[in-house]
Amino acid sequence: MAFLFIRSQPRPFEETNPDRVEAGQLFDKDMLLTEAQWRDLALRKGLASQNYRWPESGDGFPHVPYRFADANVNQVAVKAGIAHWEQHTCLKFDLTTNENQPHLKFQKGSGCWSYVGYISQYSTGQDISIGQGCTSLGTVAHEIGHAIGFYHEQSRPDRDDSIHINEENIVYGRENNFAKISDSFVDSQGIPYDYSSDMHYSGFGFSKNGRLTIATVDPRNQELIGRRNGLSHRDTHLANLMYGCIDKWKQACSMDSDPCQNGGYTGANCACVCPQGTSGSSCETLEEDYFASQRSDCSARITSPGTVTSPNYPSNYPYGVVCAKWVVAPECKLPRVTFTAFRLSDCSDKLEIRTSNRYDGDFYCGTSIAPGTSFTSTTNELILMFYTRTNSETGWSADVTFIDDPNCSPATTQPPTTQPPTTQPPTTQPPHNLLHAVLYSLPAME
Ligand SMILES: [Zn+2]
Repeated sequence: MAFLFIRSQPRPFEETNPDRVEAGQLFDKDMLLTEAQWRDLALRKGLASQNYRWPESGDGFPHVPYRFADANVNQVAVKAGIAHWEQHTCLKFDLTTNENQPHLKFQKGSGCWSYVGYISQYSTGQDISIGQGCTSLGTVAHEIGHAIGFYHEQSRPDRDDSIHINEENIVYGRENNFAKISDSFVDSQGIPYDYSSDMHYSGFGFSKNGRLTIATVDPRNQELIGRRNGLSHRDTHLANLMYGCIDKWKQACSMDSDPCQNGGYTGANCACVCPQGTSGSSCETLEEDYFASQRSDCSARITSPGTVTSPNYPSNYPYGVVCAKWVVAPECKLPRVTFTAFRLSDCSDKLEIRTSNRYDGDFYCGTSIAPGTSFTSTTNELILMFYTRTNSETGWSADVTFIDDPNCSPATTQPPTTQPPTTQPPTTQPPHNLLHAVLYSLPAME
């Protein structure tokens, strides 16, 4: 047998961060708020004011002084995150030794966290922690995102059109972390909701049972949330609007208006910065949906019978997969999947099967689904959602069929016919708390 190089993926900080750190209580897992911000939050009133923006210097651009406040912080990772922000926005970060001014104090605290926005009253600097497990570019960029004034994407007032919160899976007492922030509190500046935002949480934050707390309305977009591989187009667009960068660039380019279409904007070099799925010098050609162009080939909507498998099957699946097989039956039919193979790790990798609730299902791992086992939906949709942290096994294969829905009255006048029972109980299922314990015993890795 060939040697298998097994890799595994660390868990995102929203699953590992402590609730409280040396600097205070964390809101929404990684944000520190000032007393005034806590008060405003409780009152749900406007906070996204200019007061929390980093001020402009003589060159007309916003400047963020920073220093390394302890010897242990990963300076290479911090500098990479800063370079990423400088590359995509007009913010300038200045390494400083002057402690007597508002600035970012990068340190290696417990976990990853930051204050939200520029806190003018912290005249000797505001803390930002890049702790163990926080050094990926996407995570450093996320914490800097808070420091420049971003809240979490899933807190947006309009989020219910895009995601569904599974309240029943949230750790007791933590429901508040999924509260929407009111329109007066955040200003999304007309930028549409972005699953691929670096500020979006993954699906498992604050989960009490290993099940999803955040499910995307289109299941194919589940793979985009919490991926955290850097600022998205809409993140940089929002930051560049918040800090007036686009107007400054247009002025420098002697442009009166912004010629960029379909969500593009004028960048530093006077050319359009175009979102994924568009092309042309003014982003004028819309080739594909913004999200579709960022998804893997694995996530798919399936409307005809056939075979569905884990990626690379029968070779090993890759690590870091989130993949949706969204099976939609024709009118008066119910989708059914019958497994011919099922082989996952114990239990870092898992398959979720949704048969009655399109946002929440049961989880399977190891070899807990015997060949020949069928699952039939009670609605016209059935969703298989596959998650991996390792690449240690071959995965699964299943046949999709559609059976008659006994409760369906088609438009044509036809007497109802008797049908065989459609719902088969799953054969074996690991207890959720056991699966939870296994999932949560994985070591955090840097
Ligand atoms: Zn955060």
